[in-house]
Order: sequence, then structure tokens, then C-alpha cells
Amino acid sequence: AKSAGGNRFELADPEADARAITRHGLTTALPTALDRGEFFIEYQPLVHLGDGSVRGAEALVRWLHPQHGVLSPDRFIPLAEHTGLIVPLGRWVLEQSVRQAREWRDRHGGEALGPLRINVNLSPCQLTHPGLVQDTVEILERTGVEPDALCLEVTESALIGADDDLLKPLRRLAEMGVDIALDDFGTGYSNLANLRRLPVSVLKLDRSFTQSMQQFPADPVDLKIVEGIVSLAHSLDLAVTVEGVETGAQAEQLRLLGCDTAQGWYYARPGPPDRLHELALVDATG
Ligand code: C2E
Ligand code: CA
Ligand code: CA
Ligand code: CA
Repeated sequence: AKSAGGNRFELADPEADARAITRHGLTTALPTALDRGEFFIEYQPLVHLGDGSVRGAEALVRWLHPQHGVLSPDRFIPLAEHTGLIVPLGRWVLEQSVRQAREWRDRHGGEALGPLRINVNLSPCQLTHPGLVQDTVEILERTGVEPDALCLEVTESALIGADDDLLKPLRRLAEMGVDIALDDFGTGYSNLANLRRLPVSVLKLDRSFTQSMQQFPADPVDLKIVEGIVSLAHSLDLAVTVEGVETGAQAEQLRLLGCDTAQGWYYARPGPPDRLHELALVDATG
């Protein structure tokens, strides 16, 4: 139930109640879902804007809930963060994704396709967890995947005002050759000068920028902003990936603005690993 403004009367909000009940149910089911094997990962291609080739994929976790069906991460990642399950879940996602990258490599006969890179999201709780570096090293060693093939995505907001203790594990990983991407860039009001301090090599421009490229020609102020971010990023040796590309016009506009890599429904929705394999293969063989 929800109280309406300053009103003394409590108004029933059945939808809010249903949401609360579901949330409670999900929180209860979450801890055992990992053991029951209810999570799976979809992969969305990352495409080079210059030549259209598939360069890798982002791993996106889903929960196949026995009653509710497939749940998107927005429904359960916050709960997993709240309950601490995000640490083992995140480790599982990392291991599965890196294994998958190894399998793509093997099926393609080594370098035939060029190395497909794998991007994995890290929650802020994983950043502060002491096992992060060791877990990552062990997973890479177990699977025989080069650190270069892995990119860890951390949201801009997780790193705002980050002190050295928080950055230390990311620095270690970056020194090993793991790429760190700043996810949802442009939503967190971070100080651009601060970028120099962070061990990141990729900026992922938030979907809101892509959306503003929907009209052609796009709003000149939006164009200037993206242009400015791209030139700043490049001057700091950072690559720029754009998210949420849904149309060819957006892709073209963002390519002209100098963005390096794109991701979005225009190329492919997130899908099963074999689908990525096919897309990359078609791409390599013409
Ligand atoms: P994100 O990292 O910003 O991932 C991009 C989201 O945009 C994904 O939503 C993807 O399916 C969606 N998307 C891709 N292309 C398009 C497009 O062209 N148009 C539109 N409208 N959307 C597009 P998804 O899969 O629902 O994931 C939502 C968020 O959940 C992710 O946002 C990420 O923050 C989080 N997440 C997903 N997997 C993991 C994970 O393994 N660990 C952690 N910590 N977070 C995860
Ligand atoms: Ca991401
Ligand atoms: Ca690297
Ligand atoms: Ca993002």
C-alpha cells in the first residue's frame, strides 16, 4: 500500500503489492537458483563500425525462473547485490563467458576468425570483494584464455569518487592485459579529467546518446557532445563503444563521429552462443 502525497488515506496499489510479493519470492528463490542451474547467459555481438566485423560479445545473464519464466537482469541483479549472491553469481558468469570465448576460439580453428573478445559486467560488490583478481587469474588460467581477450565492464557510477583501494584490483587486472570498460558512460556526471586516473581503456557511451541520434540530422548540440567525448577519449587512448544502436542511420552517424565499436539490435539482439558463432563466421567468410 502506498500513501498518496500528504493524504492521510492509504490507497491500495495492487500492482505495487504484487511487485513487492514477487520481489520477496525472488529474493527467497535466488540463493538456490545458482545451484539449480537456473541462470544462463546470452551474448550480444560487438561490431567494428569501420568494417562491420564482429569483434566480440557482451555476456548478459538471465534467470530461467521455474514459475516466472525468463527474467531480465534488471529484475534480479539488484536483489543479488543486496543479498551478496552477486559475488558467486558474478564469478559463475565470468567463468562461463570465458569458457565460451575459449570454445569459439577452438571451433574457429584458432585465429581464423581473429580473436573474439568477451565482455563481462562487474557489479560494484565484486569490485570490493577481495577475491576478484585471484578468481579472474584462475579462470583465465583454467580456460587457457589470454587476458587480452577479456574486457570487464564497470559502470561509471561505481567508480565515481573511487579511492585507490577500490582501483587497485582494477589496476592489477589492467596491468595483466585485461581491458576495463567504463559502462553507461555519460550518465554519472563524472569529472572528465578524472578519466586519466582510472585504469580504463574503453568508454561505453550510454544508450541515451545513441537515442539522440535517432533523427537525421541529429540535434547539433548532441552531435557536439558526442564529438567532444570521442575526441577526448581518443586523446586519452581510450576506445569508444556505443550501446543501443537500433537503426542503420544511428550506426552511420556514430561512425562518422569517430566511435570505434557498436552494439545493438540493429546488428543482433542478445542470443545463444551458437548464434554469435554463426554471425562471426558469416562475417569472416563473407
Ligand atoms: P548493460 O550492461 O548496459 O547492458 C546493455 C543492455 O542493453 C542489455 O540489457 C541489452 O540487452 C540491452 N540492449 C542491447 N542492445 C539494445 C538496443 O539496441 N536497444 C535497447 N533498447 N536495448 C539494448 P539486459 O540484458 O536486460 O541487461 C541489463 C543490465 O543488467 C545490463 O546493462 C547490466 O548492467 C546488467 N547485467 C547483465 N548481465 C550482468 C551480469 O552478468 N552481471 C552484472 N553485475 N550485471 C549484469
Ligand atoms: Ca555492460
Ligand atoms: Ca588489453
Ligand atoms: Ca551499458
